[in-house]
Amino acid sequence: MQAAKNTVVAFTYTITDVADQVLEVRDEPTAVLIGHRNIIRGLESALAGHSSGDQFIVTVEPEDAYGLRRPDWTQRVPKKYFARPNRLKAGMVTQLRTEEGVKPVTVIKVGGKVVDVDLNHPQAGKTLNFDVTITDVREATREELAHGHAHGAHGAHH
Ligand code: ZN
Repeated sequence: MQAAKNTVVAFTYTITDVADQVLEVRDEPTAVLIGHRNIIRGLESALAGHSSGDQFIVTVEPEDAYGLRRPDWTQRVPKKYFARPNRLKAGMVTQLRTEEGVKPVTVIKVGGKVVDVDLNHPQAGKTLNFDVTITDVREATREELAHGHAHGAHGAHH
């Protein structure tokens, strides 16, 4: 079976940047419902047409990954919005609770009561290489289609 809209694809991956530095390794398969904007556009379109056992590398430009970097997209945030404010250091990537959900941000400077953060996604502005191995492709269930995401061992738990 081939990955296409409304199929659930399970895959492992390694992300590297253009300098071949490893940014993320995912050894446990992650399951994704295709065609519902669950993953970055460039990776989703690259999965299409592939079957279980396929291995490939795809290069995704920032526009199809985490977007271009906005230089002025910073914010001063009260420390109470961070889970462990006293452990924050400049340069660290941490999770910030926002109105749109939890978002990865990069710490610029830690003050007494506030933290300056860069709201750009840590991988924004980067061209990313995904080394992908597909472990399973199946039809989505009706419930998954209604929810807009994959369920089961490697998908959402709720
Ligand atoms: Zn669900």
